[in-house]
Amino acid sequence: MENELQIKQPKLHETLSMLMNIFNHTSSMIAFLDRDFNFISVNNAYASAVNRSVDDFAGKNHFEMYPDSENQQIFCKVRDTGEAVYYHEKPFVYPDDPHKKITYWNWSLVPTIEDNKVTGLVLTLTDVTDTVDARRDLQMKAMLLDNVSDATVGMDRNFCVIYWNKAAEELFEWNREEVLGKYLLDIIKTDFTDKKVEELKDELSKNGYLSFEVVQYTKSGRKLYIENVTHAICDSGGQITGYVSVRKDISERKRQLELLKINEARFRNAVENLPFFVIIYDADRKIQFANAYTRSFVEMEHDELTGNTNEGVFGSETSAKFDLILEECLDSGTSVSGEIRLIYRGSKHIFCVNYVPVLQDSKVYQIMGIYHEITDKKEAEEKQLKILRELSRSNKELEEFAYIASHDLQEPVRMAVSFSELLSRKYSGRMDQEADEFISYIVAAGKRMSSLIRDLLIYSRINTNIRPFEYVNTADVLSEVLEDLKILLDESRAKLNCHSMPVVFGDRIQIRQLFQNLIVNAVKFRGQNSPVIEIGCRQNGIMHEFFVRDNGIGIEEEFFEKIFLIFQRLHAHDKYPGTGIGLSLCKKIVETHGGKIWVESAPGKGSAFYFTLSASDA
Ligand code: ADP
Repeated sequence: MENELQIKQPKLHETLSMLMNIFNHTSSMIAFLDRDFNFISVNNAYASAVNRSVDDFAGKNHFEMYPDSENQQIFCKVRDTGEAVYYHEKPFVYPDDPHKKITYWNWSLVPTIEDNKVTGLVLTLTDVTDTVDARRDLQMKAMLLDNVSDATVGMDRNFCVIYWNKAAEELFEWNREEVLGKYLLDIIKTDFTDKKVEELKDELSKNGYLSFEVVQYTKSGRKLYIENVTHAICDSGGQITGYVSVRKDISERKRQLELLKINEARFRNAVENLPFFVIIYDADRKIQFANAYTRSFVEMEHDELTGNTNEGVFGSETSAKFDLILEECLDSGTSVSGEIRLIYRGSKHIFCVNYVPVLQDSKVYQIMGIYHEITDKKEAEEKQLKILRELSRSNKELEEFAYIASHDLQEPVRMAVSFSELLSRKYSGRMDQEADEFISYIVAAGKRMSSLIRDLLIYSRINTNIRPFEYVNTADVLSEVLEDLKILLDESRAKLNCHSMPVVFGDRIQIRQLFQNLIVNAVKFRGQNSPVIEIGCRQNGIMHEFFVRDNGIGIEEEFFEKIFLIFQRLHAHDKYPGTGIGLSLCKKIVETHGGKIWVESAPGKGSAFYFTLSASDA
């Protein structure tokens, strides 16, 4: 037995020194306590964790040093029951500083038992804060990745999937469980050839980074345009351990881009073929684009024009004219137009120039110059203006001639009529019957000539005798006319139906003449029945539209225009007397007032004469 002890002792000694070694060098904190929780000894880790030396503890009570009622209860329970307790990752909140970072501890409180009695406790504390923090950090990152909108894929160095976030599930239609551990290119099919894939892999391992656009297909075969950014992950020795790739769906962007390209091509094609000049300038007045029409006019190609200025293309004298308007457009930021006359390569041109600014952030970024060649149109207009001026001059001369002629003819005609009447009175019955008849013809013709000359005079005075326009109450004018025509209207038993009449802007005397002529005609051209005349008006925009309607003989449609011409009559003089001037006078009056006159009629159904007069001086 003694022998046995002699053999075992060095062994025990060895074990003890090994345990002491562990006790003193382990990173876990270990304390031996007696039954009353007085420290027997603590290891280095324990002492240095609370910034003390191991000797500071011997004989001191644990709960006097670190009062904590909850822990004290646990200690008592272990001592009293003899049952050890273990805690895993138990958080420790500093009682005097609750906002200090929480630390986590693995606890074991084990009783030391001798003769079935608890003689003390061994407290072991291991700081597991780093493990807990690292795990939480990982969880947070995983959660974050799961919630980013871009598909994110983690792969090992063989491109086998080890991470697949929610966005990747949605985009590629593969569930996480279906893809984990699988080779990525077996899951996501692309349009890349094997050779291209190998090239990309090489580039990735060389640069540690890769970015490219690629067509990829979802589980159901849907085609996607993907923007792919892949980063290599390396260990501390620089060896690649895996890859993280972020994939953005750019299908919509691609589609918009395609659409934009198509639209741009359409626009460019349209502008290119427009039959007038289109030149686009940048903000420095440099030409960026000139369409085919421009290029053929200036006989320059694209590259000669691009970057050039107006001066370089048109020469300094001509460009100065364009640049004046271009400058105004640049300064004002609004469209500016103008007319430019110039001589280019020996021939005359007239352009209607329009500069339209293209704004970006309220600044002129480009200017679109549109030049219409209007040389022919302008020359035709100028020619037309010349003819018009000539026409109005000769018209005026004619009117003056008609006025002078009719005015000067009045007197000799009056003389001829009165002497032929005198002749008829004095010599009637004293010559033969044929002579009496001839004289009566002369008298009648003279009278007709006299009324023709009178009417012609009135007609020619319309434009030579212009009075200032005023506001005219047509109801008053109509009453005066009806008063003047009372005998004619009574004799013919005419019935009149007059509606309310407006105020117009014009020459009172002429308007009176207008109503009078139309009412006289309505009576004169009556049929079998006594005349029924309706006069009224309705507003039509800024004009008043009047009508004088009768139940007379009516007019064939083919004569609707003709009756307004001077001296144009539809009936023999003996049936319906007149000079054929009345309606042409009406037309002239209405047109002098800026209005129109027309007739609606049918033979035997009466006629309605319409005319418009301005409601105001606007
Ligand atoms: P005039 O009355 O002297 O003949 P107008 O110039 O007033 O000359 O009229 C031209 C012609 O238009 C008339 O000769 C007549 O044939 C036709 N006319 C004018 N007013 C009427 C009317 N209210 N009804 C039918 N015919 C008319």
